[in-house]
Amino acid sequence: MHTYDRPLSKLFDDPDDPVNVLVNCSFELTDEDGSLIGWRVLDGTAQQAPREDGKAMRLSGRVISNRFEMNARVPYELTGEARGRLVGLVHIIEHDRYLRCERFVHQSDDWEPFSWDFHPPPNAERAELELLAEDALVDNLYLDGLGAEEYGILDCQAGYHPRGTKRVIIRSRKPVPGDIRWELLDTLRGRTHAQGILEPTGRSLWGRWTWVADFTECEREGYYLLRVHMPDRVVESAPIRIWNGVYRHLTYLVAKYSYLQRCGVEIPGYHKPCHTNDALCRITDQNEDYGEIEEYRDVIGGWHDAGDYNKWFHYYGYVLEALTLVHKRLDLNRVSYGDPLPDVLSEIFWGADFFLKVQNPDGSFIGPIHGWFTHRDPETGRRWNSNWAIFWEMPHEDSGGGEVMHPRSRNFDYHSHDSPLIVLDFATALATAARCVREVDHRRTWTYVNASLRSVNYLEKLAPEISSHPYWVTLWYDLYRATGRAEYKSRVDELIPGILAEQAEDGSFGNPSGLKHPFHPVTVLLELVIDEPDHPLRDDIIRAAERKLDWMDTHIMGEPYDLMLQCTEDDPGDVTSRSFGRNAWIANAAYVYALAGRITGRREWLRRAEAQIAWILGRNPHGVCQVVDAGRVHPGRYHGWPNWNENDLHGSLTGGIINGITIVDDHYTRDDATSWTTMPPLFPILSVRREDIPYSDHLLVNARHDSNEYWSLHHAAFHQAMSALAAAYRELDVPERPKACYLYSNADGYGDARACDELFERCEWDVDRVASDSRYPHFDPRAYGAVVVGRSWRGGDYVDAESLGITVRHSFQLGVTWILLPPDDPASIEWLDRVSSGLVPYGEIDQPEGGWEPSDYGKTRKIHGSTVHLVEDEDGLRQLLIKLKE
Ligand SMILES: [Zn+2]
Repeated sequence: MHTYDRPLSKLFDDPDDPVNVLVNCSFELTDEDGSLIGWRVLDGTAQQAPREDGKAMRLSGRVISNRFEMNARVPYELTGEARGRLVGLVHIIEHDRYLRCERFVHQSDDWEPFSWDFHPPPNAERAELELLAEDALVDNLYLDGLGAEEYGILDCQAGYHPRGTKRVIIRSRKPVPGDIRWELLDTLRGRTHAQGILEPTGRSLWGRWTWVADFTECEREGYYLLRVHMPDRVVESAPIRIWNGVYRHLTYLVAKYSYLQRCGVEIPGYHKPCHTNDALCRITDQNEDYGEIEEYRDVIGGWHDAGDYNKWFHYYGYVLEALTLVHKRLDLNRVSYGDPLPDVLSEIFWGADFFLKVQNPDGSFIGPIHGWFTHRDPETGRRWNSNWAIFWEMPHEDSGGGEVMHPRSRNFDYHSHDSPLIVLDFATALATAARCVREVDHRRTWTYVNASLRSVNYLEKLAPEISSHPYWVTLWYDLYRATGRAEYKSRVDELIPGILAEQAEDGSFGNPSGLKHPFHPVTVLLELVIDEPDHPLRDDIIRAAERKLDWMDTHIMGEPYDLMLQCTEDDPGDVTSRSFGRNAWIANAAYVYALAGRITGRREWLRRAEAQIAWILGRNPHGVCQVVDAGRVHPGRYHGWPNWNENDLHGSLTGGIINGITIVDDHYTRDDATSWTTMPPLFPILSVRREDIPYSDHLLVNARHDSNEYWSLHHAAFHQAMSALAAAYRELDVPERPKACYLYSNADGYGDARACDELFERCEWDVDRVASDSRYPHFDPRAYGAVVVGRSWRGGDYVDAESLGITVRHSFQLGVTWILLPPDDPASIEWLDRVSSGLVPYGEIDQPEGGWEPSDYGKTRKIHGSTVHLVEDEDGLRQLLIKLKE
């Protein structure tokens, strides 16, 4: 586990760091010229003044602070001390829009503390503090970036898998002594389902006392409330869902994002057909010709990316591979994109077909497809060309905000994507796509295989130095699975010993290289073991994975978040920019843990995987779900083109994953512009800061890569983690709890509806209820292990008996077990008799043969494919339900 040598509060106590002004401003230091760091004097004077225990600010005039990030949904309090009359104006701002101002006045003859409370509107992103005084003293300003809530509950907002880890974080601004009791209320049954004592997890980096309520053992699907009995009040969570479908749902949700990013076609509700003509290959010579045009090419298709309308497709290979994993692992057969294909497969075709268009004849790939601008310096008239330009507006309008924009300005260059690792990544993606579509499209399979081999040829000629890169394992193996050619498989087997030999003493694999993630080659090898469970090097691969995971352990932040920190391979604990994004990193770590946990059956690794996913889905200091539409609380706005989206002015795109919770100073206080992805330990923010830095000035800083910008690689990483987790839990599954359909009547009240609740509970059956007097007493017989007829059932009082009869007879055809509680009630037997013949969904069935026979529970008989039981009493029902579970 990794620990920082300085707590977060110390890091942001640093008065030299101007971003800290509002957080902790005790006016102890000044610049060389004596001015107060981080404060701009608007009027009058502001100077350091002595105070008995240090320094304060003496203000005669007006000063304004730098900006401070705010999480808009919580109350805030700004505290400090002052002497004299001090007016404070808190200016609340959204992105580049001024929202409103809160005004406070402090007056005292001597030093007195003050506390100014305010609640920003939901779209607020940041604040600035303006102070006004005529000779007053002020000191020790403090605004806590996480707001002023006494207690908070942080959970994975998408819910929990019944077999998964369920650890919810409780936090407090103050320490709370003694044991704290929690209980989990089952809202469907109205009773406490589990309870326990919170595990204390200490004071977190973000300055909160934390505990964990662990209800992993609650494996029952349902909706729950967590209640925590603090000394002064009961703190209650939002509804917490436990459900089997959680990982499949999240996978589908995130796959949807790729669909919404499709370019070249209309995406209803998002944009009209866009970028539907050719693009130009242009020379970026700096002349008056706007760049010489060399070639026109059809590059229609693919996906937009990164919150704009360009196609930065260097991550598409990764997205495509991740989609193929989803297709391979999960049965996601929903068809809604307009193809007669399952959506995920349709998306795989969409991506791979685009790769065919952007591949050059020699096997390399053209560069990204984007806008083209010619700039002119207004002072000198000097003109220069740039292929770094962005489509910001709705794509069918196809214009940009630049000074001069060439018509038909979609541009690409011939060479940007000819570097060996990108070519290898794309070639691998084509191989995985070929394997994936083998069953459904013979022609496409061979087209993808041949395209992949064209790039292989390019690499073998021009890049022998990467001939042992781990991507080759996936490439050759998937080509083998696509074609059945054994020689491709032997290429895989030749590669593995060399890759394993690369592992360092400490378990790491040296500096990662390549586009996808730095957890190679372990994931590649583990995927191979899943495909080839009897591989002769299986044990060696698993041992290598175990050693790598031991190494990863040194970068885990520890309880309660259990987050894996972004780091180098060289120097454990050194946070770094050497990876491709923040939530991608976190999801990649989840992927490794999930794969290893699945193969070895080690639940603690699955738990680690889930802790990473929980961070992304809301169990983070902001309590914000970072996957659009996956949780309850989301960022107030998103970066990039969807801000113009007619569907959502906040810029949310279903399934979008933002870059992540990052630190403030990576954008503008460091000299080194490459340090922008470090994460997390300085003060974390969730906002865009576009207006802080001129947008075109991206050479100066990487302000464009904001914390709420969507990047495709986060989606790819999340897909990998989800497909691995979903598959792991399917394999480790404990048997599903069987479900009964209970038929009853409420003509005389709801007594009979609940009559068998305790019994079902004891036998561990779930139950759905259908009343005989409901207008449409329909049930889907495929959903139930048994249909139980209660004592009050009257056979469908108001409904057309025939439609209910069809359902009942269908269940007989399907062989669903029926159990009747009232053994001596002739009305029930007569009803059963009546519904046992007649129309079924396709055709008609006759009266069943045979009759009642005695059984251990009462009487039994066959009706078509079903066994029907008449049980003597509740005890007979109990025994039978237990028997049926076996
Ligand atoms: Zn487009």
